[in-house]
Amino acid sequence: MTRLTRADLDALPAYVPGRNVADLARELGIAEAIKLASNEVPFGPLPGVAEAVMAAVGQTHRYPDLGAVALRDKLAGRLGVDADRLVTGCGSVALAELLAKATCLPGDEIVYSWRSFEAYPIIASGVGATSVRVPNDAGHGHDLTAMAEAVTDRTRLVLVCNPNNPTGTSSRKADLDRFLDAVPDDTLVVLDEAYREFVTDDDVPDGLRTYGDRPNVVVLRTLSKAWGLAGLRIGYLVAQPEVAAAVRKVLTPFSTSTVAQAAALAALDAEAEVERRCAVVISERDRVTTEVRKLFPDVPSSQANFVWLPLGDQAVAFGAACEQQGVIVRPFAGDGVRVTIGTPEENDAFLAAAEFAAKSL
Ligand code: PMP
Repeated sequence: MTRLTRADLDALPAYVPGRNVADLARELGIAEAIKLASNEVPFGPLPGVAEAVMAAVGQTHRYPDLGAVALRDKLAGRLGVDADRLVTGCGSVALAELLAKATCLPGDEIVYSWRSFEAYPIIASGVGATSVRVPNDAGHGHDLTAMAEAVTDRTRLVLVCNPNNPTGTSSRKADLDRFLDAVPDDTLVVLDEAYREFVTDDDVPDGLRTYGDRPNVVVLRTLSKAWGLAGLRIGYLVAQPEVAAAVRKVLTPFSTSTVAQAAALAALDAEAEVERRCAVVISERDRVTTEVRKLFPDVPSSQANFVWLPLGDQAVAFGAACEQQGVIVRPFAGDGVRVTIGTPEENDAFLAAAEFAAKSL
Protein backbone atom coordinates (compact mmCIF):
# COMPACT_ATOMS: atom_id res chain seq x y z
CA MET A 1 0.00 0.00 0.00
CA THR A 2 1.15 3.52 -0.70
CA ARG A 3 2.62 5.04 2.45
CA LEU A 4 0.60 8.05 3.56
CA THR A 5 2.07 8.70 7.00
CA ARG A 6 5.55 9.06 8.49
CA ALA A 7 7.49 5.77 8.64
CA ASP A 8 9.22 6.75 11.90
CA LEU A 9 5.88 6.71 13.72
CA ASP A 10 5.63 2.94 13.24
CA ALA A 11 8.17 2.43 16.01
CA LEU A 12 6.50 4.87 18.38
CA PRO A 13 4.54 3.31 21.24
CA ALA A 14 1.03 4.78 21.56
CA TYR A 15 0.07 6.53 24.79
CA VAL A 16 -1.39 3.88 27.10
CA PRO A 17 -4.12 5.28 29.32
CA GLY A 18 -4.94 3.69 32.67
CA ARG A 19 -7.56 0.95 32.33
CA ASN A 20 -11.13 1.80 33.14
CA VAL A 21 -13.88 0.48 35.36
CA ALA A 22 -15.76 -0.40 32.15
CA ASP A 23 -12.78 -2.54 30.99
CA LEU A 24 -12.99 -4.64 34.17
CA ALA A 25 -16.76 -4.95 33.92
CA ARG A 26 -16.43 -6.26 30.36
CA GLU A 27 -13.40 -8.50 30.84
CA LEU A 28 -13.69 -9.78 34.40
CA GLY A 29 -17.35 -9.18 35.22
CA ILE A 30 -16.36 -6.91 38.13
CA ALA A 31 -19.11 -4.30 38.26
CA GLU A 32 -17.63 -1.81 40.72
CA ALA A 33 -13.90 -1.72 40.26
CA ILE A 34 -11.79 0.96 41.93
CA LYS A 35 -9.65 2.98 39.54
CA LEU A 36 -6.27 4.00 40.93
CA ALA A 37 -4.55 4.22 37.58
CA SER A 38 -4.61 7.78 36.25
CA ASN A 39 -3.61 10.10 39.09
CA GLU A 40 -6.89 11.92 39.42
CA VAL A 41 -8.10 13.15 42.82
CA PRO A 42 -11.15 11.06 43.84
CA PHE A 43 -13.47 13.63 45.40
CA GLY A 44 -15.48 14.84 42.39
CA PRO A 45 -15.54 18.34 40.91
CA LEU A 46 -14.86 21.22 43.30
CA PRO A 47 -17.79 23.19 44.72
CA GLY A 48 -19.09 25.71 42.17
CA VAL A 49 -17.60 23.91 39.16
CA ALA A 50 -20.73 22.04 38.07
CA GLU A 51 -22.78 25.26 38.22
CA ALA A 52 -20.17 27.17 36.23
CA VAL A 53 -20.11 24.41 33.62
CA MET A 54 -23.90 24.44 33.31
CA ALA A 55 -23.90 28.21 32.86
CA ALA A 56 -21.16 28.04 30.22
CA VAL A 57 -23.01 25.36 28.26
CA GLY A 58 -25.45 28.07 27.10
CA GLN A 59 -22.57 29.75 25.25
CA THR A 60 -21.23 26.70 23.45
CA HIS A 61 -22.49 27.81 20.03
CA ARG A 62 -19.83 30.58 20.23
CA TYR A 63 -16.08 30.14 20.00
CA PRO A 64 -14.23 30.43 23.30
CA ASP A 65 -12.21 33.51 24.23
CA LEU A 66 -9.02 32.71 22.28
CA GLY A 67 -6.80 34.52 24.77
CA ALA A 68 -8.59 33.10 27.86
CA VAL A 69 -8.23 36.63 29.21
CA ALA A 70 -10.31 36.32 32.38
CA LEU A 71 -8.64 33.06 33.33
CA ARG A 72 -5.13 34.27 32.57
CA ASP A 73 -5.77 37.42 34.61
CA LYS A 74 -6.98 35.37 37.53
CA LEU A 75 -4.04 33.00 37.34
CA ALA A 76 -1.65 35.93 36.95
CA GLY A 77 -3.03 37.48 40.14
CA ARG A 78 -2.72 34.23 42.06
CA LEU A 79 0.78 33.51 40.85
CA GLY A 80 2.09 37.05 40.97
CA VAL A 81 3.20 37.16 37.33
CA ASP A 82 2.17 39.26 34.31
CA ALA A 83 -0.63 37.70 32.26
CA ASP A 84 1.52 37.87 29.09
CA ARG A 85 3.71 35.17 30.63
CA LEU A 86 0.80 32.72 30.78
CA VAL A 87 -0.55 30.38 28.13
CA THR A 88 -3.48 28.04 28.78
CA GLY A 89 -4.01 24.86 26.80
CA CYS A 90 -5.93 21.67 26.36
CA GLY A 91 -4.21 20.02 29.33
CA SER A 92 -0.61 20.69 30.25
CA VAL A 93 0.37 17.80 28.02
CA ALA A 94 -0.73 19.88 25.02
CA LEU A 95 1.43 22.73 26.26
CA ALA A 96 4.42 20.40 26.52
CA GLU A 97 3.76 19.46 22.90
CA LEU A 98 3.59 23.10 21.91
CA LEU A 99 6.86 23.82 23.69
CA ALA A 100 8.47 21.07 21.61
CA LYS A 101 6.90 22.54 18.49
CA ALA A 102 8.10 26.02 19.39
CA THR A 103 11.70 24.92 20.07
CA CYS A 104 12.59 21.87 17.97
CA LEU A 105 13.23 21.17 14.33
CA PRO A 106 13.66 17.58 13.11
CA GLY A 107 16.93 16.15 14.43
CA ASP A 108 17.09 18.44 17.46
CA GLU A 109 17.32 16.76 20.86
CA ILE A 110 14.99 16.69 23.83
CA VAL A 111 16.57 15.46 27.07
CA TYR A 112 14.49 13.87 29.79
CA SER A 113 14.84 11.36 32.57
CA TRP A 114 13.57 7.83 32.09
CA ARG A 115 11.35 6.48 33.38
CA SER A 116 9.22 9.59 33.45
CA PHE A 117 5.93 10.82 32.00
CA GLU A 118 5.12 8.51 29.11
CA ALA A 119 3.94 11.38 26.90
CA TYR A 120 7.52 12.73 26.63
CA PRO A 121 8.76 10.26 23.98
CA ILE A 122 5.58 10.79 21.99
CA ILE A 123 5.99 14.56 22.17
CA ALA A 124 9.60 14.31 20.97
CA SER A 125 8.74 12.02 18.08
CA GLY A 126 5.81 14.19 17.10
CA VAL A 127 8.17 17.01 16.10
CA GLY A 128 10.84 14.66 14.70
CA ALA A 129 13.18 15.40 17.60
CA THR A 130 15.56 12.82 19.04
CA SER A 131 14.75 11.64 22.55
CA VAL A 132 17.79 11.59 24.82
CA ARG A 133 16.77 9.52 27.82
CA VAL A 134 18.89 9.75 30.94
CA PRO A 135 18.32 6.76 33.23
CA ASN A 136 16.79 7.47 36.62
CA ASP A 137 19.21 7.19 39.52
CA ALA A 138 19.22 4.27 41.96
CA GLY A 139 16.48 5.96 44.00
CA HIS A 140 14.21 6.16 40.90
CA GLY A 141 14.63 9.95 40.62
CA HIS A 142 16.19 12.30 38.09
CA ASP A 143 19.99 12.21 37.82
CA LEU A 144 20.31 15.93 37.22
CA THR A 145 24.08 15.81 36.90
CA ALA A 146 23.84 13.25 34.11
CA MET A 147 20.99 15.21 32.53
CA ALA A 148 23.10 18.37 32.41
CA GLU A 149 25.95 16.35 30.89
CA ALA A 150 23.56 14.95 28.24
CA VAL A 151 22.84 18.44 26.89
CA THR A 152 24.59 19.06 23.57
CA ASP A 153 24.46 21.89 21.08
CA ARG A 154 21.54 20.03 19.44
CA THR A 155 19.49 20.07 22.65
CA ARG A 156 16.61 22.53 22.43
CA LEU A 157 14.51 21.30 25.35
CA VAL A 158 15.04 19.58 28.70
CA LEU A 159 12.01 18.17 30.50
CA VAL A 160 12.29 17.97 34.28
CA CYS A 161 9.33 16.25 35.89
CA ASN A 162 9.09 17.35 39.50
CA PRO A 163 7.63 15.36 41.24
CA ASN A 164 8.33 12.65 38.71
CA ASN A 165 5.52 10.63 37.17
CA PRO A 166 5.43 7.66 37.71
CA THR A 167 8.02 7.26 40.47
CA GLY A 168 6.85 10.09 42.77
CA THR A 169 10.44 11.15 43.46
CA SER A 170 11.45 14.81 43.57
CA SER A 171 14.44 16.92 42.72
CA ARG A 172 15.77 19.10 45.53
CA LYS A 173 16.73 22.75 45.38
CA ALA A 174 20.52 22.38 45.60
CA ASP A 175 20.54 19.87 42.72
CA LEU A 176 18.18 21.99 40.61
CA ASP A 177 20.29 25.11 41.26
CA ARG A 178 23.40 23.31 40.02
CA PHE A 179 21.54 21.81 37.06
CA LEU A 180 20.03 25.10 35.91
CA ASP A 181 23.40 26.82 36.23
CA ALA A 182 24.94 24.11 34.04
CA VAL A 183 22.37 24.16 31.22
CA PRO A 184 23.24 26.67 28.48
CA ASP A 185 21.11 29.82 28.27
CA ASP A 186 19.84 28.92 24.81
CA THR A 187 18.30 25.61 25.92
CA LEU A 188 14.79 25.76 27.29
CA VAL A 189 14.17 23.89 30.55
CA VAL A 190 10.60 22.85 31.31
CA LEU A 191 9.78 22.20 34.96
CA ASP A 192 6.71 19.98 34.69
CA GLU A 193 4.95 20.51 38.01
CA ALA A 194 1.68 18.66 37.40
CA TYR A 195 1.77 17.41 41.01
CA ARG A 196 3.08 20.53 42.74
CA GLU A 197 0.10 20.83 45.09
CA PHE A 198 1.00 17.54 46.79
CA VAL A 199 4.59 18.50 47.64
CA THR A 200 5.32 18.68 51.36
CA ASP A 201 9.13 18.58 51.40
CA ASP A 202 10.45 22.14 51.89
CA ASP A 203 13.59 21.23 49.94
CA VAL A 204 11.53 20.67 46.79
CA PRO A 205 11.27 24.15 45.32
CA ASP A 206 8.22 25.78 43.78
CA GLY A 207 9.65 26.13 40.27
CA LEU A 208 7.85 29.35 39.56
CA ARG A 209 8.81 31.14 42.76
CA THR A 210 12.36 29.87 42.77
CA TYR A 211 13.31 29.82 39.09
CA GLY A 212 10.53 31.73 37.32
CA ASP A 213 12.75 34.72 36.63
CA ARG A 214 15.30 32.66 34.68
CA PRO A 215 14.86 33.41 30.96
CA ASN A 216 15.18 29.79 29.87
CA VAL A 217 12.82 28.24 32.44
CA VAL A 218 9.17 27.37 31.76
CA VAL A 219 6.88 26.07 34.48
CA LEU A 220 4.07 23.75 33.47
CA ARG A 221 1.06 23.27 35.74
CA THR A 222 -2.29 21.56 35.36
CA LEU A 223 -5.81 21.82 36.72
CA SER A 224 -6.32 18.09 36.08
CA LYS A 225 -5.02 16.77 39.39
CA ALA A 226 -5.51 18.73 42.63
CA TRP A 227 -8.05 21.04 40.95
CA GLY A 228 -10.21 18.16 39.75
CA LEU A 229 -10.66 19.11 36.08
CA ALA A 230 -8.99 16.17 34.28
CA GLY A 231 -12.07 15.58 32.12
CA LEU A 232 -12.20 19.16 30.90
CA ARG A 233 -8.58 19.33 29.78
CA ILE A 234 -7.00 22.51 31.01
CA GLY A 235 -3.49 23.41 32.06
CA TYR A 236 -1.18 26.39 31.83
CA LEU A 237 2.44 27.38 31.47
CA VAL A 238 4.38 30.33 32.78
CA ALA A 239 7.32 31.45 30.66
CA GLN A 240 9.13 34.64 29.76
CA PRO A 241 6.88 36.77 27.49
CA GLU A 242 8.90 35.98 24.32
CA VAL A 243 8.66 32.24 24.91
CA ALA A 244 4.96 32.49 25.74
CA ALA A 245 4.41 34.48 22.53
CA ALA A 246 6.19 31.79 20.47
CA VAL A 247 4.01 29.09 22.04
CA ARG A 248 0.88 31.11 21.22
CA LYS A 249 1.95 31.13 17.55
CA VAL A 250 1.85 27.33 17.35
CA LEU A 251 -1.26 26.93 19.53
CA THR A 252 -4.25 25.13 18.06
CA PRO A 253 -6.75 28.00 17.96
CA PHE A 254 -9.50 27.88 20.60
CA SER A 255 -8.15 24.73 22.21
CA THR A 256 -9.05 25.94 25.72
CA SER A 257 -12.81 25.48 25.53
CA THR A 258 -15.45 27.88 26.88
CA VAL A 259 -16.56 25.26 29.40
CA ALA A 260 -13.01 24.54 30.55
CA GLN A 261 -12.30 28.25 31.04
CA ALA A 262 -15.47 28.71 33.09
CA ALA A 263 -14.76 25.61 35.16
CA ALA A 264 -11.20 26.72 35.82
CA LEU A 265 -12.36 30.15 37.01
CA ALA A 266 -14.78 28.48 39.42
CA ALA A 267 -12.22 25.94 40.62
CA LEU A 268 -9.71 28.67 41.40
CA ASP A 269 -12.29 30.15 43.80
CA ALA A 270 -12.30 26.91 45.77
CA GLU A 271 -8.72 27.02 46.98
CA ALA A 272 -9.55 26.23 50.60
CA GLU A 273 -11.28 23.03 49.50
CA VAL A 274 -8.31 22.12 47.29
CA GLU A 275 -6.03 22.47 50.30
CA ARG A 276 -8.33 20.32 52.42
CA ARG A 277 -8.43 17.61 49.74
CA CYS A 278 -4.69 17.71 49.21
CA ALA A 279 -4.16 17.28 52.95
CA VAL A 280 -6.26 14.11 52.84
CA VAL A 281 -4.35 12.81 49.82
CA ILE A 282 -1.00 13.59 51.44
CA SER A 283 -1.85 11.85 54.70
CA GLU A 284 -3.19 8.85 52.79
CA ARG A 285 -0.09 8.80 50.59
CA ASP A 286 2.09 8.57 53.65
CA ARG A 287 -0.12 5.87 55.19
CA VAL A 288 -0.17 3.81 51.96
CA THR A 289 3.60 4.18 51.61
CA THR A 290 4.19 2.89 55.15
CA GLU A 291 1.79 -0.02 54.69
CA VAL A 292 2.92 -1.07 51.23
CA ARG A 293 6.57 -0.97 52.30
CA LYS A 294 5.75 -3.92 54.57
CA LEU A 295 5.29 -5.87 51.33
CA PHE A 296 7.85 -4.09 49.16
CA PRO A 297 10.49 -2.29 51.27
CA ASP A 298 12.00 -0.48 48.26
CA VAL A 299 9.01 1.79 47.59
CA PRO A 300 10.46 5.30 47.24
CA SER A 301 9.01 8.26 49.16
CA SER A 302 6.47 10.11 47.04
CA GLN A 303 5.76 13.82 46.84
CA ALA A 304 2.85 13.29 44.46
CA ASN A 305 -0.63 11.71 44.66
CA PHE A 306 0.62 8.24 43.77
CA VAL A 307 3.21 5.71 44.88
CA TRP A 308 5.62 3.63 42.85
CA LEU A 309 6.24 -0.05 43.41
CA PRO A 310 9.54 -0.97 41.72
CA LEU A 311 8.56 -4.55 40.88
CA GLY A 312 10.57 -4.98 37.67
CA ASP A 313 9.48 -8.06 35.72
CA GLN A 314 6.64 -8.72 38.18
CA ALA A 315 4.88 -5.43 37.47
CA VAL A 316 2.36 -6.77 34.95
CA ALA A 317 1.50 -9.85 37.03
CA PHE A 318 1.00 -7.65 40.09
CA GLY A 319 -1.32 -5.34 38.13
CA ALA A 320 -3.36 -8.29 36.84
CA ALA A 321 -3.68 -9.74 40.35
CA CYS A 322 -4.90 -6.39 41.70
CA GLU A 323 -7.47 -6.25 38.90
CA GLN A 324 -8.77 -9.65 39.94
CA GLN A 325 -9.42 -8.04 43.30
CA GLY A 326 -11.26 -5.18 41.62
CA VAL A 327 -8.50 -2.56 41.91
CA ILE A 328 -7.06 -1.01 38.76
CA VAL A 329 -3.45 0.12 39.11
CA ARG A 330 -1.01 1.15 36.39
CA PRO A 331 1.75 -1.37 35.60
CA PHE A 332 4.71 -0.39 33.42
CA ALA A 333 6.03 -3.62 31.94
CA GLY A 334 9.45 -4.66 33.24
CA ASP A 335 9.68 -1.65 35.50
CA GLY A 336 7.09 -1.02 38.19
CA VAL A 337 3.54 -0.22 39.17
CA ARG A 338 2.08 3.20 39.85
CA VAL A 339 -0.80 3.39 42.29
CA THR A 340 -2.86 6.56 42.56
CA ILE A 341 -3.96 7.58 46.05
CA GLY A 342 -7.74 7.37 46.32
CA THR A 343 -10.18 7.81 49.18
CA PRO A 344 -9.22 6.08 52.46
CA GLU A 345 -11.65 3.23 51.64
CA GLU A 346 -10.20 2.83 48.14
CA ASN A 347 -6.69 2.78 49.55
CA ASP A 348 -7.69 0.10 52.03
CA ALA A 349 -9.03 -1.94 49.12
CA PHE A 350 -5.73 -1.45 47.30
CA LEU A 351 -3.70 -2.52 50.35
CA ALA A 352 -5.79 -5.67 50.65
CA ALA A 353 -5.41 -6.35 46.91
CA ALA A 354 -1.65 -5.72 47.16
CA GLU A 355 -1.32 -8.30 49.91
CA PHE A 356 -3.17 -10.81 47.75
CA ALA A 357 -1.14 -9.88 44.67
CA ALA A 358 2.18 -10.05 46.54
CA LYS A 359 1.41 -13.65 47.60
CA SER A 360 0.55 -14.60 44.05
CA LEU A 361 3.83 -13.41 42.55
N1 PMP B 1 2.73 16.17 33.27
C1 PMP B 1 2.76 15.10 34.04
C2 PMP B 1 4.00 14.78 34.76
C3 PMP B 1 1.63 14.28 34.15
O1 PMP B 1 1.69 13.18 34.91
C4 PMP B 1 0.47 14.62 33.46
C5 PMP B 1 -0.77 13.79 33.54
N2 PMP B 1 -0.66 12.45 33.60
C6 PMP B 1 0.50 15.75 32.67
C7 PMP B 1 1.64 16.51 32.59
C8 PMP B 1 -0.64 16.14 31.83
O2 PMP B 1 -1.74 16.52 32.49
P1 PMP B 1 -2.92 17.26 31.73
O3 PMP B 1 -2.68 17.18 30.28
O4 PMP B 1 -4.13 16.55 32.17
O5 PMP B 1 -2.84 18.67 32.23
